[in-house]
Amino acid sequence: MRKYDENRGAVSFETAKRAKRSARKTALVAGGAGFLGSHLCKRLLDEGCSVVCVDNFQTGRTANLVELMTGTSFSVIRHDVIQPLKIDGSIDEVYNLACAASPPKYQQDPIHTMQTCVNGTLNLLELARAKGARFFQASTSEVYGDPMVHPQPEEYHGNVNPYGPRSCYDEGKRAAEALCHDFADRFDLTVKVARIFNTYGPQMLADDGRVVSNFIVQALKGDPITIYGSGDQTRSFCYVDDLIEGILRLMRSDDRVTTPVNLGNPVEFTMLQLAELVIGQTGSSSSLVSCALPVDDPRQRRPDISRAKEALDWEPTTMLADGLAKTTAYFADQITHENARLSELA
Ligand code: NAD
Ligand code: UDP
Repeated sequence: MRKYDENRGAVSFETAKRAKRSARKTALVAGGAGFLGSHLCKRLLDEGCSVVCVDNFQTGRTANLVELMTGTSFSVIRHDVIQPLKIDGSIDEVYNLACAASPPKYQQDPIHTMQTCVNGTLNLLELARAKGARFFQASTSEVYGDPMVHPQPEEYHGNVNPYGPRSCYDEGKRAAEALCHDFADRFDLTVKVARIFNTYGPQMLADDGRVVSNFIVQALKGDPITIYGSGDQTRSFCYVDDLIEGILRLMRSDDRVTTPVNLGNPVEFTMLQLAELVIGQTGSSSSLVSCALPVDDPRQRRPDISRAKEALDWEPTTMLADGLAKTTAYFADQITHENARLSELA
């Protein structure tokens, strides 16, 4: 791996090696050190792309990138996308995944979250425009807020609180969609917007704060499983490999696909059902503990994926039980390594 200074840009891309691989696509992945971004970087590298990962490491980490650093096709720029980016060399695809996605993480600095969604998307759109690159926006099911229509089709305009602790993310992502629309309209930029529904899998942070990682880590450690509110609220969980396939199909879709597309798994679970599944799979003795329901926590969520099926010939293939088993194996391994490290220090 080569590191690049954000002020100098990725100048050394213009090497003889690069010329030899001129048929190769170069993809820039903002948020590439995070959970989804690192899976996307890997998939793009496996396809033969050169990949530039741009990240401020707020919730991303180098451990997610270690496996990718062995080749010369991967580079990392430490940069906060709220500042404009200067990148030398050609870029064919810009993927904007930069933004903390876990409620406790994006609420730590809500003003920065809003800046990331709005200024960050604007800067990346400008970059794509300057480079003549395609643009992918990681939008979210949160644009539907606490939905009054169930399941949620893309035509639904949502029920979002503009003045609350989730607003920095929900309204930020809605503003980002508006910017995507306007750049596509005014500058003839190819823009693809995915509304991503709750996705989980290996490379989530153990302390990420989202429900799947919380429940699995709590179960593995024998800690109480934290049920927020009654636990009757629902989510529909998509395994990461299915989602990455959907993202790539959407990015490479033809010019007729101009509107946002829901990407998610339409099988819906209550949080109590999820907790039972995790406890059953791990054989944990953890008890359930009741905690306060966060403000504006959506009561139900399930994607209508008719558009993705029709336009992309895409639907998820991983059952929750199978995806959870892979994710549990990942976290068990993480905990074993952490325990070994701690006993070495002791
Ligand atoms: P994540 O928190 O693991 O990854 C986000 C990445 O963006 C991290 O590497 C973080 O350091 C980086 N980042 C944050 N702010 C930045 C900034 N200002 N400049 C540069 N880098 C910045 O989250 P994730 O689950 O991988 O989500 C990735 C994207 O997908 C996010 O945009 C999120 O809104 C969207 N999304 C995810 C889900 C999901 O269920 N995972 C659902 C809907 C939407
Ligand atoms: N949740 C929970 N326990 C936890 C974490 C989350 O019961 O330890 C609930 C949360 O209140 C929400 C659902 O699980 O109803 C999904 O939460 P998450 O933060 O994963 O995603 P989001 O709310 O953004 O969909």
